[in-house]
Amino acid sequence: MENTLNIIGGGMAGSEAAWQAAHAGLNVIIHEMRPKVETFAHRTGNLGEMVCSNSFRSDDHEQNAVGLLHWEMMQANGLIMQTAYKHRLPAGGALAVDRDPFAESITAALSAHPNVSIRYDEITALPDDGHWIIATGPLTSGALAEAIKTETGAEALAFFDAIAPIVYHDSINMDVAWMQSRYDKGETLEEQTAYLNCPMSKDQYEAFIDALLAAEKTAFKEGETAGYFDGCLPIEVMAERGRETLRFGPMKPVGLTNANDPTNKPYAVVQLRRDNALGTLYNIVGFQTKMKYGAQKDVFKMIPGLECAEFARLGGIHRNTFINSPTLLDDQMRLRARPNIRFAGQITGVEGYVESAAMGLLAGRMAVAELTGQTLPPVPDTTAMGALVTHITGGAEAKTFQPMNVNFGLFPPVDGIKGGRRGRKDRYKAYTDRAKTDWQAWLGQMALDAA
Ligand SMILES: Cc1cc2nc3c(=O)[nH]c(=O)nc-3n(C[C@H](O)[C@H](O)[C@H](O)COP(=O)(O)OP(=O)(O)OC[C@H]3O[C@@H](n4cnc5c(N)ncnc54)[C@H](O)[C@@H]3O)c2cc1C
Repeated sequence: MENTLNIIGGGMAGSEAAWQAAHAGLNVIIHEMRPKVETFAHRTGNLGEMVCSNSFRSDDHEQNAVGLLHWEMMQANGLIMQTAYKHRLPAGGALAVDRDPFAESITAALSAHPNVSIRYDEITALPDDGHWIIATGPLTSGALAEAIKTETGAEALAFFDAIAPIVYHDSINMDVAWMQSRYDKGETLEEQTAYLNCPMSKDQYEAFIDALLAAEKTAFKEGETAGYFDGCLPIEVMAERGRETLRFGPMKPVGLTNANDPTNKPYAVVQLRRDNALGTLYNIVGFQTKMKYGAQKDVFKMIPGLECAEFARLGGIHRNTFINSPTLLDDQMRLRARPNIRFAGQITGVEGYVESAAMGLLAGRMAVAELTGQTLPPVPDTTAMGALVTHITGGAEAKTFQPMNVNFGLFPPVDGIKGGRRGRKDRYKAYTDRAKTDWQAWLGQMALDAA
């Protein structure tokens, strides 16, 4: 059996995938285009370079889904996490990292591994044979992106994310909001009540527009905006074009009757749409934004029904190459049309250093299983790893697919545990306890020295 694994991209995902596969005995070739070909965000030729913030976010593995992902990766001999702890900086409950020594250590560890070779070259076409993982990240080079687009179709490859904020369903006040599709459209009751609506009076709308215009925004980085205005506009840009623009766009009040107050016609309506099969997450339709995170919370909590909203993720617009994983990948992260190619990292539609490394870890292990003739059971969706991979390879709505951070809204509920704000601490602990048990069991099913 051919046991060489080629990995394109030596970032968070590619480095982790390489480590996992090499550790299991596969020969690994990493193809990294830097420093020969640069991106607008990377500064060095190191593997595992952090391009912006130096934070791996919360390290709380009992109460936070990212912290749980840290824990799960540590249990799986994760190179990225081990190295992050080695170069940890003081940052309260967050895991901040000394970025240059971190990336130098990743590069040194992989360079020193007897099963790894690193080729500093740009891959510009999809490989026809051999076993491959594409982990080229949000700044995949133009030629390779073109090749992916040719294979998958233009619709299935995005160059920007336009992320609308996502709210936990159980934090929405349903005494104010109601479920209804515009003009009750749809064949089934489920379709006719597919949207969650939040009504606004004229005064509330005017105050909302004022806050939107005044809110602090994030600037685009140089080289980031090319092509972006062809896509969706941030809501604050729509508001700048005229105070009524949103009322004739994503906030139009037509075709809707407030079920909680049927005689009172709303002046504007904010709509939320289900974001996952479990129905635990709702995205605010058309509300992609460049507002700073703190400002987003303040402004969006002005929406009636969202005063106590908890956000699974906030909105954003970034340069980001990613594929429509729910339609293109199978549950082993393989391209359905070309199963010799896996995808991993941010290009699969996860977002963030930690999530990208996590998807690299899984892709690496899945490749090991395949090349050593093992059948791996699906990663349990009760684990942070499993919740994330299940979301991108099937749980997410394909039509509106946008990159996702790990969060507890992706986890199936634990039987007998209360929903709502009050029970949150117990609920999160129950999620993380269950995840730890299930992750250990899943890890135990793989023979890692079979290659
Ligand atoms: C401007 C910017 C700011 C960001 N800020 C943050 C942040 O603050 N926090 C956070 O968690 N995440 C941030 N992200 C997202 C972050 O980049 C990713 O989450 C993470 O780095 C993705 O890991 P990855 O392995 O998928 O991609 P990367 O880490 O980007 O690695 C991909 C690698 O592939 C290489 N490559 C690309 N094309 C080719 C090719 N054709 N041939 C060979 N090699 C190739 C690249 O050089 C790169 O080394 C940011 C992204 C951008 C673009």
